[in-house]
Amino acid sequence: MNKMRISQVTLAAVLGLMGYILVNAATAAEKKPARPAITKINRSEAEWKKILTADEFYVLRQQGTERPFTGRYHDHHEKGTYVCAACKLPLFSSSTKFDSGTGWPSFFAPIDAKHVEELVDNSHGMRRVEVRCARCGGHLGHVFDDGPKPTGLRYCINSVSLKFEGKSVR
Ligand SMILES: [Zn+2]
Repeated sequence: MNKMRISQVTLAAVLGLMGYILVNAATAAEKKPARPAITKINRSEAEWKKILTADEFYVLRQQGTERPFTGRYHDHHEKGTYVCAACKLPLFSSSTKFDSGTGWPSFFAPIDAKHVEELVDNSHGMRRVEVRCARCGGHLGHVFDDGPKPTGLRYCINSVSLKFEGKSVR
């Protein structure tokens, strides 16, 4: 008899614990961001070579850098959105673009933090932070901490990595 009561108590405790776990799991699910994470594009370098121009392939896939003051966007002031030249993911808005004087298009923030990836780059004897497209992994440029307000950041981006679309300004 006594044994029976103990098992009932144990059962009640187990059920209570399960309920607690379920409620907490549901709460955790609600806390997830509404927008799903970026779905990555994985193409072989051979595929990219067919899709991209020679300049785009050199910069986006081989971490190349265009010569300053030669790109199409360093002195470009139209209102709109700059998307990834390889996969068209929106990356930067004209509203965050500023004249850095470096000869490369410069922005103080990406259009969405989830649309870019930042990686430490120790190449060429320097410690820099590389900026890549979060969807296709294409090399865009580097980010430095000598930018203007409000972020103090300077996203120094190759024109070749971008395509301008004169609409949907955020
Ligand atoms: Zn991309």
